[in-house]
Amino acid sequence: MKRSIYRSLRAELVIYAVISLMLAIATEFAIGFVLVFVAHTFGVSKYGYGKGPLIDKKNIYESKGRLPNYSNIRHWNKDTLVVIMFIILIIGFILFMFYFLLITRRITKDMSYISNSISNIAAGEMDIRITGINRDDEIGEIVLQVNRMSDEIERLMKSEREALQANKEMITCVAHDLRTPLTSIIGYLQLATDTDKYALEERQKYASIAMRKANRMQGLIEELFSYTKLMSGEISLHRSSIDIVKLVEQMTEEFYPLFMENNLEYSLKQNVDSLVMEVDSELIARAVSNLISNAVKYGKDGKAVYIELKKYEKELQICVTNFGLVIPEESLEHIFDKFYRVESSRSSQTGGTGLGLNIAQEIAILHGGRITVKSGIKGTCFTIALPIDN
Ligand code: ADP
Repeated sequence: MKRSIYRSLRAELVIYAVISLMLAIATEFAIGFVLVFVAHTFGVSKYGYGKGPLIDKKNIYESKGRLPNYSNIRHWNKDTLVVIMFIILIIGFILFMFYFLLITRRITKDMSYISNSISNIAAGEMDIRITGINRDDEIGEIVLQVNRMSDEIERLMKSEREALQANKEMITCVAHDLRTPLTSIIGYLQLATDTDKYALEERQKYASIAMRKANRMQGLIEELFSYTKLMSGEISLHRSSIDIVKLVEQMTEEFYPLFMENNLEYSLKQNVDSLVMEVDSELIARAVSNLISNAVKYGKDGKAVYIELKKYEKELQICVTNFGLVIPEESLEHIFDKFYRVESSRSSQTGGTGLGLNIAQEIAILHGGRITVKSGIKGTCFTIALPIDN
């Protein structure tokens, strides 16, 4: 498509008006010239045509419908001239309109195409884009903005659809995740309370299984609560001065039974012994615990989990690395989205809401920090970076 040279629609219209005017004048001259030529060729002369002079030099209006003698124009009276001028003006105006509409038909065609496209977009056809109009003027700007608007609306609708779908999946998932342990908790508690059938030792074993499952349920419910609180903006930071190195050390110890249960080696490395920071310790503990429990959940086959604290000049990084399944490249950009779960995790028995990483990210952002992920053959590493106020 040829690019329009005009940058302003008004300037373009003025130029078209001038061109139309010049063409109208030129056409009128041409018509006049043809008429004179015809009159001359077919015998209208100073003396009229046919037998004898038809046009009286003094009173040309008695020519009774014949062509006037063009050479006697200076003898025409004023009224005649006014009428002729009027006719010339009317014809000129009609010619001007004709040329103007002809020249500007491209603009009106573009405008009606734009208007139809906008109507279709308004009717819900979000995939419609205005193409083929390549102008630098106001019309070009309208096209650009309409296409941008459609892109944005389409993007919003898509994310709205995805969120709805994710919500649906989450409700199904949570309902399933809560019902399954609840059914087995009831089952194990029935066994644990059956004193006739089972010895004390066995009943204690059933009770502790029920306890473990109840803890898992509690974890899920807490995750849902944190999520709804974070999302509704209800959470405000309760910062206090804490030694973040000690906090991470404590949490690693708390996970000790889980590491053992899953035959996982673990290590905590740090380049700093103590670092006091102003953070919301409960939320930071929640974020770090989400990363460690994920490392256990998804790194069971990887044999080890490494936790590392790295202090830099401006930030503290808490990295949790596990091995085993690599997160596919296409999943990495969605991994922090709410309700997102990697395909392999959905079908596995790990259970989960797809909220843990989203919550950890929200917490990092609330503290002015960020969370990042790297996954490859060298392991999967999630890093929370928190700014250090000097
Ligand atoms: P959930 O664990 O409840 O599914 P998360 O938001 O914590 O939700 O994690 C989202 C998804 O990211 C998980 O379903 C899993 O597929 C993937 N993932 C999270 N952490 C890890 C990890 N350490 N190693 C491999 N995959 C992970």
